[in-house]
Amino acid sequence: MLGGGARRYAVIGAGASGLCCAKYLVQSGCGDVTIFEIGTQIGGLWCYGNDNGLSSAYKTLHINTARNLTSFSDFGFDDGVQMFPDHRDMHRYLVSYAEHFGLTRRIRFESRVVKVEPAATYGRDAPRWEVRLENGTVEAFDRVIVATGHLSKPLHVPEFQDGFKGEYLHSHYYREPEPFVGKRICVIGVGNSACDIASDVCVTSPKTVMVARSGVMIGPKLIFGYAFTDITMKLYRRWIPDAVRRRVIAFLVYLIHGRMTDLGFKPLTQRAHPTTSAVVVPHIAYRRILVKQGIERIEGRRIFFNDGTSDEFDTLIACTGYLIDLPMIPPSVLEVKDNAVDLYKRICAPGWEGLYFMGMFNTTTALNLVFERQARWICALERGEAALPGPEEMRADIQAKKDWIDRHYKQSLRHTIEEEHLFYLDELDRSEKAGRRRLARAA
Ligand SMILES: Cc1cc2nc3c(=O)[nH]c(=O)nc-3n(C[C@H](O)[C@H](O)[C@H](O)COP(=O)(O)OP(=O)(O)OC[C@H]3O[C@@H](n4cnc5c(N)ncnc54)[C@H](O)[C@@H]3O)c2cc1C
Repeated sequence: MLGGGARRYAVIGAGASGLCCAKYLVQSGCGDVTIFEIGTQIGGLWCYGNDNGLSSAYKTLHINTARNLTSFSDFGFDDGVQMFPDHRDMHRYLVSYAEHFGLTRRIRFESRVVKVEPAATYGRDAPRWEVRLENGTVEAFDRVIVATGHLSKPLHVPEFQDGFKGEYLHSHYYREPEPFVGKRICVIGVGNSACDIASDVCVTSPKTVMVARSGVMIGPKLIFGYAFTDITMKLYRRWIPDAVRRRVIAFLVYLIHGRMTDLGFKPLTQRAHPTTSAVVVPHIAYRRILVKQGIERIEGRRIFFNDGTSDEFDTLIACTGYLIDLPMIPPSVLEVKDNAVDLYKRICAPGWEGLYFMGMFNTTTALNLVFERQARWICALERGEAALPGPEEMRADIQAKKDWIDRHYKQSLRHTIEEEHLFYLDELDRSEKAGRRRLARAA
Protein backbone atom coordinates (compact mmCIF):
# COMPACT_ATOMS: atom_id res chain seq x y z
CA MET A 1 0.00 0.00 0.00
CA LEU A 2 1.38 3.38 -0.97
CA GLY A 3 1.43 6.17 1.55
CA GLY A 4 0.48 9.80 0.90
CA GLY A 5 3.12 11.57 -1.15
CA ALA A 6 3.97 8.65 -3.40
CA ARG A 7 0.67 8.20 -5.15
CA ARG A 8 -0.13 8.99 -8.75
CA TYR A 9 -3.31 10.96 -9.27
CA ALA A 10 -5.18 11.42 -12.52
CA VAL A 11 -7.60 14.34 -12.62
CA ILE A 12 -9.84 14.25 -15.68
CA GLY A 13 -10.85 17.73 -16.77
CA ALA A 14 -9.17 21.14 -16.59
CA GLY A 15 -12.38 23.00 -15.75
CA ALA A 16 -13.04 24.75 -12.44
CA SER A 17 -13.69 21.56 -10.47
CA GLY A 18 -10.70 19.62 -11.81
CA LEU A 19 -8.31 22.52 -11.27
CA CYS A 20 -9.61 23.05 -7.76
CA CYS A 21 -9.18 19.41 -6.78
CA ALA A 22 -5.73 19.24 -8.38
CA LYS A 23 -4.67 22.32 -6.43
CA TYR A 24 -5.70 20.83 -3.10
CA LEU A 25 -4.08 17.48 -3.88
CA VAL A 26 -0.81 19.16 -4.85
CA GLN A 27 -0.88 21.36 -1.74
CA SER A 28 -1.62 18.37 0.50
CA GLY A 29 1.51 16.69 -0.77
CA CYS A 30 -0.48 13.56 -1.48
CA GLY A 31 1.45 12.67 -4.61
CA ASP A 32 2.00 13.42 -8.24
CA VAL A 33 -0.97 14.94 -10.05
CA THR A 34 -1.63 14.77 -13.79
CA ILE A 35 -4.61 16.57 -15.32
CA PHE A 36 -6.06 15.24 -18.58
CA GLU A 37 -7.94 17.63 -20.83
CA ILE A 38 -9.65 17.01 -24.19
CA GLY A 39 -8.90 20.38 -25.73
CA THR A 40 -6.11 22.92 -25.72
CA GLN A 41 -7.78 25.23 -23.22
CA ILE A 42 -8.14 25.64 -19.47
CA GLY A 43 -11.51 26.56 -17.99
CA GLY A 44 -13.99 24.04 -19.45
CA LEU A 45 -17.41 25.57 -19.77
CA TRP A 46 -16.14 29.10 -19.17
CA CYS A 47 -13.95 29.06 -22.26
CA TYR A 48 -16.22 30.44 -24.98
CA GLY A 49 -15.84 28.37 -28.15
CA ASN A 50 -13.63 25.87 -26.27
CA ASP A 51 -12.05 23.50 -28.78
CA ASN A 52 -13.09 20.59 -26.55
CA GLY A 53 -16.45 21.05 -28.31
CA LEU A 54 -18.30 20.92 -24.99
CA SER A 55 -18.76 24.48 -23.77
CA SER A 56 -22.31 25.81 -23.56
CA ALA A 57 -21.13 29.39 -23.05
CA TYR A 58 -22.77 32.08 -25.17
CA LYS A 59 -21.50 35.55 -25.98
CA THR A 60 -23.60 37.33 -23.38
CA LEU A 61 -23.02 34.86 -20.55
CA HIS A 62 -22.25 36.39 -17.18
CA ILE A 63 -21.99 34.38 -14.02
CA ASN A 64 -25.00 34.77 -11.72
CA THR A 65 -23.02 34.86 -8.52
CA ALA A 66 -21.12 38.05 -7.72
CA ARG A 67 -17.34 38.05 -8.02
CA ASN A 68 -16.47 37.88 -4.31
CA LEU A 69 -18.73 34.88 -3.89
CA THR A 70 -17.59 33.26 -7.14
CA SER A 71 -13.85 33.35 -6.50
CA PHE A 72 -12.01 30.55 -4.77
CA SER A 73 -11.15 31.29 -1.13
CA ASP A 74 -7.42 31.75 -1.79
CA PHE A 75 -7.39 33.48 -5.16
CA GLY A 76 -9.31 36.61 -6.03
CA PHE A 77 -10.32 38.12 -9.35
CA ASP A 78 -8.09 40.81 -10.79
CA ASP A 79 -8.94 44.33 -9.65
CA GLY A 80 -11.29 45.87 -12.14
CA VAL A 81 -13.23 42.70 -12.93
CA GLN A 82 -16.91 43.56 -13.02
CA MET A 83 -19.36 42.65 -10.27
CA PHE A 84 -20.74 39.72 -12.29
CA PRO A 85 -17.81 38.33 -14.29
CA ASP A 86 -18.58 37.33 -17.87
CA HIS A 87 -17.21 34.24 -19.57
CA ARG A 88 -14.04 36.09 -20.60
CA ASP A 89 -13.38 37.13 -17.01
CA MET A 90 -14.11 33.62 -15.80
CA HIS A 91 -11.84 32.06 -18.38
CA ARG A 92 -8.99 34.45 -17.61
CA TYR A 93 -9.52 33.85 -13.92
CA LEU A 94 -9.29 30.06 -14.24
CA VAL A 95 -6.20 30.32 -16.47
CA SER A 96 -4.55 32.56 -13.84
CA TYR A 97 -5.61 30.20 -11.05
CA ALA A 98 -3.95 27.27 -12.85
CA GLU A 99 -0.83 29.32 -13.46
CA HIS A 100 -0.66 30.69 -9.92
CA PHE A 101 -0.87 27.25 -8.30
CA GLY A 102 1.51 25.58 -10.73
CA LEU A 103 -1.19 23.46 -12.33
CA THR A 104 -0.71 24.41 -15.98
CA ARG A 105 2.42 22.32 -16.37
CA ARG A 106 0.53 19.33 -15.00
CA ILE A 107 -2.15 19.50 -17.68
CA ARG A 108 -1.91 17.15 -20.62
CA PHE A 109 -3.88 18.92 -23.30
CA GLU A 110 -5.43 17.11 -26.25
CA SER A 111 -5.74 14.01 -24.11
CA ARG A 112 -9.28 12.70 -24.07
CA VAL A 113 -9.79 9.95 -21.54
CA VAL A 114 -11.98 7.24 -23.03
CA LYS A 115 -11.89 4.66 -20.27
CA VAL A 116 -11.22 4.45 -16.54
CA GLU A 117 -11.09 0.87 -15.39
CA PRO A 118 -10.03 -0.95 -12.27
CA ALA A 119 -6.59 -2.40 -12.94
CA ALA A 120 -5.99 -6.13 -12.70
CA THR A 121 -4.26 -5.41 -9.40
CA TYR A 122 -7.28 -3.52 -8.04
CA GLY A 123 -7.85 -4.26 -4.37
CA ARG A 124 -4.54 -6.06 -3.95
CA ASP A 125 -1.88 -3.61 -4.78
CA ALA A 126 -1.31 -0.12 -6.13
CA PRO A 127 -1.87 1.13 -8.79
CA ARG A 128 -5.60 0.67 -8.82
CA TRP A 129 -6.96 2.30 -11.93
CA GLU A 130 -6.08 2.30 -15.59
CA VAL A 131 -6.71 5.39 -17.63
CA ARG A 132 -7.03 4.88 -21.36
CA LEU A 133 -6.65 7.81 -23.73
CA GLU A 134 -8.17 8.25 -27.16
CA ASN A 135 -4.75 7.76 -28.75
CA GLY A 136 -4.62 4.26 -27.30
CA THR A 137 -2.12 4.83 -24.49
CA VAL A 138 -2.96 3.34 -21.12
CA GLU A 139 -1.50 4.57 -17.85
CA ALA A 140 -1.90 3.32 -14.34
CA PHE A 141 -2.87 5.60 -11.45
CA ASP A 142 -3.49 5.03 -7.78
CA ARG A 143 -6.37 7.48 -7.77
CA VAL A 144 -8.64 8.99 -10.38
CA ILE A 145 -10.71 12.13 -9.98
CA VAL A 146 -13.41 12.57 -12.60
CA ALA A 147 -14.14 16.28 -13.07
CA THR A 148 -15.66 16.27 -16.52
CA GLY A 149 -18.68 18.51 -15.90
CA HIS A 150 -22.33 17.63 -16.50
CA LEU A 151 -23.63 20.48 -18.64
CA SER A 152 -22.46 19.43 -22.08
CA LYS A 153 -24.78 16.70 -23.31
CA PRO A 154 -28.06 18.30 -24.38
CA LEU A 155 -31.29 16.81 -23.14
CA HIS A 156 -33.50 16.83 -26.22
CA VAL A 157 -37.24 16.43 -25.92
CA PRO A 158 -38.35 14.42 -29.00
CA GLU A 159 -41.71 16.20 -29.11
CA PHE A 160 -39.83 19.47 -29.82
CA GLN A 161 -36.83 18.14 -31.71
CA ASP A 162 -38.79 15.98 -34.14
CA GLY A 163 -42.20 17.61 -33.92
CA PHE A 164 -41.27 21.17 -34.86
CA LYS A 165 -40.68 21.61 -38.58
CA GLY A 166 -38.86 24.93 -38.44
CA GLU A 167 -35.33 25.47 -37.18
CA TYR A 168 -34.61 23.55 -33.95
CA LEU A 169 -31.72 24.32 -31.65
CA HIS A 170 -30.74 23.20 -28.15
CA SER A 171 -29.41 26.00 -25.94
CA HIS A 172 -26.05 24.17 -25.79
CA TYR A 173 -25.45 25.28 -29.40
CA TYR A 174 -26.66 28.86 -28.98
CA ARG A 175 -23.80 31.36 -29.15
CA GLU A 176 -25.07 34.78 -30.24
CA PRO A 177 -28.30 36.52 -31.21
CA GLU A 178 -27.24 37.64 -34.73
CA PRO A 179 -28.42 34.53 -36.65
CA PHE A 180 -31.90 35.01 -35.17
CA VAL A 181 -32.55 38.60 -36.20
CA GLY A 182 -36.06 38.93 -37.66
CA LYS A 183 -37.07 35.40 -36.73
CA ARG A 184 -40.12 34.41 -34.69
CA ILE A 185 -38.73 32.47 -31.79
CA CYS A 186 -40.15 30.10 -29.22
CA VAL A 187 -37.84 29.52 -26.24
CA ILE A 188 -38.71 26.48 -24.16
CA GLY A 189 -37.74 26.55 -20.49
CA VAL A 190 -37.35 29.04 -17.71
CA GLY A 191 -33.87 28.29 -16.40
CA ASN A 192 -30.91 30.65 -16.55
CA SER A 193 -30.07 29.89 -20.19
CA ALA A 194 -33.70 30.32 -21.25
CA CYS A 195 -33.90 33.75 -19.60
CA ASP A 196 -30.58 34.88 -21.10
CA ILE A 197 -31.34 33.59 -24.59
CA ALA A 198 -34.90 34.93 -24.72
CA SER A 199 -33.56 38.31 -23.55
CA ASP A 200 -30.84 38.22 -26.23
CA VAL A 201 -33.07 37.44 -29.16
CA CYS A 202 -36.24 39.33 -28.25
CA VAL A 203 -34.77 42.74 -29.08
CA THR A 204 -34.50 41.97 -32.78
CA SER A 205 -37.25 39.40 -33.13
CA PRO A 206 -40.79 40.23 -34.22
CA LYS A 207 -42.05 37.68 -31.71
CA THR A 208 -40.40 35.89 -28.80
CA VAL A 209 -42.39 33.49 -26.67
CA MET A 210 -41.06 31.80 -23.58
CA VAL A 211 -42.75 28.59 -22.52
CA ALA A 212 -42.49 27.89 -18.81
CA ARG A 213 -44.28 24.71 -17.84
CA SER A 214 -42.99 24.82 -14.27
CA GLY A 215 -43.40 27.47 -11.64
CA VAL A 216 -40.49 29.83 -11.24
CA MET A 217 -39.02 32.55 -9.06
CA ILE A 218 -36.67 34.70 -11.10
CA GLY A 219 -34.19 36.30 -8.76
CA PRO A 220 -32.72 39.73 -9.59
CA LYS A 221 -29.00 40.38 -9.91
CA LEU A 222 -29.02 43.62 -7.96
CA ILE A 223 -30.92 44.87 -4.97
CA PHE A 224 -30.40 48.37 -3.61
CA GLY A 225 -27.31 48.49 -5.80
CA TYR A 226 -25.77 45.41 -4.20
CA ALA A 227 -25.36 41.98 -5.74
CA PHE A 228 -28.43 39.94 -4.84
CA THR A 229 -26.24 36.93 -4.06
CA ASP A 230 -24.23 39.02 -1.55
CA ILE A 231 -27.44 39.81 0.31
CA THR A 232 -28.94 36.33 0.14
CA MET A 233 -25.66 34.73 1.25
CA LYS A 234 -26.04 36.63 4.53
CA LEU A 235 -29.23 34.66 5.06
CA TYR A 236 -27.41 31.37 4.69
CA ARG A 237 -26.67 31.09 8.39
CA ARG A 238 -27.18 27.86 10.24
CA TRP A 239 -29.26 29.54 12.93
CA ILE A 240 -31.77 30.91 10.41
CA PRO A 241 -34.50 28.33 9.86
CA ASP A 242 -34.72 27.22 6.26
CA ALA A 243 -38.40 28.18 5.94
CA VAL A 244 -37.64 31.71 7.21
CA ARG A 245 -34.72 32.10 4.82
CA ARG A 246 -36.80 30.97 1.88
CA ARG A 247 -39.58 33.39 2.79
CA VAL A 248 -37.23 36.33 3.14
CA ILE A 249 -35.61 35.54 -0.24
CA ALA A 250 -39.07 35.23 -1.84
CA PHE A 251 -40.00 38.60 -0.33
CA LEU A 252 -36.85 40.28 -1.66
CA VAL A 253 -37.55 38.85 -5.11
CA TYR A 254 -41.09 40.18 -4.85
CA LEU A 255 -39.77 43.64 -3.96
CA ILE A 256 -37.72 43.76 -7.15
CA HIS A 257 -39.65 41.65 -9.65
CA GLY A 258 -43.19 41.62 -8.27
CA ARG A 259 -45.42 38.58 -8.50
CA MET A 260 -44.31 35.93 -10.96
CA THR A 261 -47.96 35.27 -11.75
CA ASP A 262 -48.33 38.91 -12.88
CA LEU A 263 -45.62 38.19 -15.45
CA GLY A 264 -47.54 35.16 -16.70
CA PHE A 265 -45.59 32.43 -14.88
CA LYS A 266 -46.92 29.76 -12.57
CA PRO A 267 -45.86 30.40 -8.99
CA LEU A 268 -43.04 28.35 -7.54
CA THR A 269 -44.51 25.83 -5.11
CA GLN A 270 -41.52 23.55 -4.60
CA ARG A 271 -37.77 23.93 -4.41
CA ALA A 272 -36.11 24.42 -7.78
CA HIS A 273 -32.70 25.25 -9.12
CA PRO A 274 -32.48 29.05 -8.83
CA THR A 275 -33.10 31.18 -11.88
CA THR A 276 -31.54 34.64 -11.91
CA SER A 277 -31.86 37.33 -14.52
CA ALA A 278 -31.41 41.06 -14.49
CA VAL A 279 -33.04 41.57 -17.84
CA VAL A 280 -35.80 39.11 -18.61
CA VAL A 281 -38.44 40.73 -16.39
CA PRO A 282 -38.28 44.19 -18.09
CA HIS A 283 -38.42 42.44 -21.49
CA ILE A 284 -41.59 40.67 -20.36
CA ALA A 285 -42.97 43.98 -19.06
CA TYR A 286 -42.20 45.60 -22.46
CA ARG A 287 -44.02 42.67 -24.13
CA ARG A 288 -40.89 41.82 -26.07
CA ILE A 289 -41.28 38.38 -24.52
CA LEU A 290 -44.64 36.69 -24.09
CA VAL A 291 -44.93 34.00 -21.46
CA LYS A 292 -46.88 30.79 -22.02
CA GLN A 293 -47.39 28.01 -19.53
CA GLY A 294 -47.22 24.97 -21.75
CA ILE A 295 -47.49 23.48 -25.21
CA GLU A 296 -50.45 21.34 -26.18
CA ARG A 297 -49.21 20.25 -29.59
CA ILE A 298 -47.05 21.24 -32.53
CA GLU A 299 -48.13 21.05 -36.16
CA GLY A 300 -45.40 21.95 -38.61
CA ARG A 301 -44.23 25.39 -37.56
CA ARG A 302 -47.39 26.17 -35.61
CA ILE A 303 -47.25 25.76 -31.86
CA PHE A 304 -50.50 25.37 -29.94
CA PHE A 305 -50.22 26.59 -26.37
CA ASN A 306 -52.28 25.28 -23.50
CA ASP A 307 -54.08 28.62 -23.09
CA GLY A 308 -55.89 27.92 -26.39
CA THR A 309 -53.75 30.28 -28.51
CA SER A 310 -51.40 29.26 -31.31
CA ASP A 311 -48.71 30.88 -33.43
CA GLU A 312 -46.22 30.19 -36.18
CA PHE A 313 -42.51 30.24 -35.37
CA ASP A 314 -39.31 30.10 -37.39
CA THR A 315 -37.10 28.80 -34.61
CA LEU A 316 -37.57 26.73 -31.49
CA ILE A 317 -34.78 27.02 -28.93
CA ALA A 318 -34.95 24.19 -26.41
CA CYS A 319 -33.46 25.22 -23.08
CA THR A 320 -34.40 21.82 -21.76
CA GLY A 321 -31.27 21.06 -19.77
CA TYR A 322 -28.50 18.52 -19.85
CA LEU A 323 -27.84 14.86 -19.28
CA ILE A 324 -25.09 13.48 -17.09
CA ASP A 325 -22.56 11.86 -19.37
CA LEU A 326 -19.73 9.67 -18.10
CA PRO A 327 -18.80 7.58 -21.13
CA MET A 328 -15.37 6.77 -19.70
CA ILE A 329 -16.77 5.00 -16.64
CA PRO A 330 -17.86 1.36 -17.14
CA PRO A 331 -21.45 0.70 -15.99
CA SER A 332 -20.09 -2.01 -13.68
CA VAL A 333 -18.44 0.80 -11.70
CA LEU A 334 -21.10 3.49 -11.96
CA GLU A 335 -24.20 3.69 -14.07
CA VAL A 336 -26.10 6.80 -15.10
CA LYS A 337 -29.79 5.97 -14.65
CA ASP A 338 -32.61 8.45 -15.19
CA ASN A 339 -30.02 11.19 -15.23
CA ALA A 340 -28.84 10.24 -11.76
CA VAL A 341 -25.66 8.66 -10.44
CA ASP A 342 -25.37 6.86 -7.14
CA LEU A 343 -22.49 8.67 -5.50
CA TYR A 344 -21.93 8.85 -1.78
CA LYS A 345 -21.89 12.54 -0.86
CA ARG A 346 -21.85 13.14 -4.65
CA ILE A 347 -18.20 12.03 -4.61
CA CYS A 348 -17.64 8.28 -4.16
CA ALA A 349 -19.00 5.26 -6.00
CA PRO A 350 -19.89 2.68 -3.32
CA GLY A 351 -17.59 -0.31 -3.36
CA TRP A 352 -14.84 1.36 -5.39
CA GLU A 353 -11.80 2.81 -3.73
CA GLY A 354 -9.65 5.53 -5.15
CA LEU A 355 -12.22 6.86 -7.60
CA TYR A 356 -13.70 10.27 -6.90
CA PHE A 357 -16.09 12.57 -8.72
CA MET A 358 -15.93 16.35 -8.51
CA GLY A 359 -18.69 18.78 -9.39
CA MET A 360 -21.42 16.22 -9.91
CA PHE A 361 -24.12 18.46 -8.45
CA ASN A 362 -26.09 21.63 -8.99
CA THR A 363 -26.57 24.03 -6.17
CA THR A 364 -27.90 27.29 -4.83
CA THR A 365 -24.66 29.24 -4.78
CA ALA A 366 -21.37 29.71 -6.62
CA LEU A 367 -20.05 26.28 -7.41
CA ASN A 368 -16.43 27.11 -6.72
CA LEU A 369 -16.86 27.32 -2.97
CA VAL A 370 -18.52 23.91 -2.97
CA PHE A 371 -15.81 22.48 -5.23
CA GLU A 372 -13.30 23.57 -2.60
CA ARG A 373 -15.16 21.76 0.15
CA GLN A 374 -15.39 18.61 -1.98
CA ALA A 375 -11.66 18.82 -2.72
CA ARG A 376 -10.79 19.18 0.98
CA TRP A 377 -13.05 16.24 1.79
CA ILE A 378 -11.17 14.10 -0.74
CA CYS A 379 -7.81 15.30 0.61
CA ALA A 380 -8.79 14.33 4.18
CA LEU A 381 -9.30 10.79 2.93
CA GLU A 382 -6.14 10.86 0.88
CA ARG A 383 -4.02 12.11 3.76
CA GLY A 384 -5.33 9.19 5.79
CA GLU A 385 -7.18 11.43 8.25
CA ALA A 386 -10.63 9.96 7.64
CA ALA A 387 -12.12 6.68 6.47
CA LEU A 388 -15.17 6.04 4.33
CA PRO A 389 -18.11 3.97 5.54
CA GLY A 390 -18.80 0.60 3.95
CA PRO A 391 -20.74 0.30 0.67
CA GLU A 392 -24.03 -0.58 2.38
CA GLU A 393 -23.94 2.53 4.55
CA MET A 394 -23.09 4.59 1.48
CA ARG A 395 -26.02 3.14 -0.46
CA ALA A 396 -28.41 3.86 2.40
CA ASP A 397 -27.16 7.44 2.50
CA ILE A 398 -27.64 7.81 -1.27
CA GLN A 399 -31.19 6.48 -1.00
CA ALA A 400 -31.99 8.91 1.81
CA LYS A 401 -30.77 11.77 -0.39
CA LYS A 402 -32.94 10.60 -3.29
CA ASP A 403 -35.97 10.42 -1.02
CA TRP A 404 -35.29 13.98 0.20
CA ILE A 405 -35.10 15.27 -3.35
CA ASP A 406 -38.32 13.45 -4.28
CA ARG A 407 -40.08 15.07 -1.35
CA HIS A 408 -38.85 18.62 -1.95
CA TYR A 409 -38.38 19.06 -5.70
CA LYS A 410 -40.58 18.57 -8.68
CA GLN A 411 -39.68 15.13 -9.96
CA SER A 412 -37.80 15.73 -13.15
CA LEU A 413 -34.50 14.88 -14.80
CA ARG A 414 -33.42 18.41 -13.93
CA HIS A 415 -33.23 17.96 -10.19
CA THR A 416 -31.55 14.59 -9.68
CA ILE A 417 -28.25 16.11 -8.52
CA GLU A 418 -29.59 19.24 -6.88
CA GLU A 419 -28.13 20.26 -3.52
CA GLU A 420 -29.04 23.06 -1.13
CA HIS A 421 -25.49 24.25 -0.58
CA LEU A 422 -25.78 24.96 3.14
CA PHE A 423 -27.16 21.50 3.87
CA TYR A 424 -24.62 19.90 1.57
CA LEU A 425 -21.65 21.69 3.13
CA ASP A 426 -22.89 20.62 6.57
CA GLU A 427 -23.24 17.08 5.32
CA LEU A 428 -19.67 17.06 4.07
CA ASP A 429 -18.50 18.43 7.44
CA ARG A 430 -20.43 15.79 9.35
CA SER A 431 -19.34 12.91 7.16
CA GLU A 432 -15.71 14.00 7.36
CA LYS A 433 -15.92 14.13 11.16
CA ALA A 434 -17.58 10.70 11.18
CA GLY A 435 -14.79 9.48 8.91
CA ARG A 436 -12.19 10.72 11.39
CA ARG A 437 -13.97 8.94 14.26
CA ARG A 438 -14.27 5.77 12.17
CA LEU A 439 -10.55 5.84 11.59
CA ALA A 440 -9.79 6.47 15.27
CA ARG A 441 -11.99 3.52 16.28
CA ALA A 442 -10.28 1.24 13.77
CA ALA A 443 -6.81 2.23 15.00
C1 LIG B 1 -25.27 28.68 -19.01
C2 LIG B 1 -24.58 28.33 -17.72
C3 LIG B 1 -24.50 29.26 -16.70
C4 LIG B 1 -23.83 28.94 -15.52
N1 LIG B 1 -23.77 29.87 -14.53
C5 LIG B 1 -23.14 29.58 -13.38
C6 LIG B 1 -23.06 30.53 -12.32
O1 LIG B 1 -23.63 31.61 -12.41
N2 LIG B 1 -22.37 30.22 -11.19
C7 LIG B 1 -21.76 29.01 -11.06
O2 LIG B 1 -21.13 28.76 -10.03
N3 LIG B 1 -21.84 28.08 -12.03
C8 LIG B 1 -22.51 28.33 -13.18
N4 LIG B 1 -22.58 27.38 -14.16
C9 LIG B 1 -22.07 26.06 -13.87
C10 LIG B 1 -20.69 25.72 -14.42
O3 LIG B 1 -20.87 24.45 -14.95
C11 LIG B 1 -19.63 25.70 -13.34
O4 LIG B 1 -19.41 27.03 -12.93
C12 LIG B 1 -18.28 25.12 -13.74
O5 LIG B 1 -17.86 25.59 -14.98
C13 LIG B 1 -18.27 23.61 -13.78
O6 LIG B 1 -16.92 23.23 -13.81
P1 LIG B 1 -16.47 21.75 -14.10
O7 LIG B 1 -15.00 21.76 -14.05
O8 LIG B 1 -17.15 20.80 -13.17
O9 LIG B 1 -17.01 21.40 -15.55
P2 LIG B 1 -16.59 22.02 -16.96
O10 LIG B 1 -16.39 23.48 -16.86
O11 LIG B 1 -17.59 21.50 -17.91
O12 LIG B 1 -15.16 21.37 -17.24
C14 LIG B 1 -15.01 19.99 -17.50
C15 LIG B 1 -13.69 19.79 -18.22
O13 LIG B 1 -13.47 18.39 -18.39
C16 LIG B 1 -12.97 18.15 -19.69
N5 LIG B 1 -13.32 16.78 -20.07
C17 LIG B 1 -14.56 16.28 -20.23
N6 LIG B 1 -14.49 14.99 -20.58
C18 LIG B 1 -13.17 14.68 -20.65
C19 LIG B 1 -12.47 13.49 -21.01
N7 LIG B 1 -13.12 12.38 -21.34
N8 LIG B 1 -11.12 13.53 -21.01
C20 LIG B 1 -10.43 14.65 -20.67
N9 LIG B 1 -11.07 15.81 -20.34
C21 LIG B 1 -12.43 15.82 -20.33
C22 LIG B 1 -13.66 19.17 -20.55
O14 LIG B 1 -12.97 19.37 -21.76
C23 LIG B 1 -13.67 20.40 -19.62
O15 LIG B 1 -12.53 21.18 -19.80
C24 LIG B 1 -23.25 27.67 -15.36
C25 LIG B 1 -23.36 26.74 -16.38
C26 LIG B 1 -24.02 27.07 -17.56
C27 LIG B 1 -24.13 26.00 -18.65
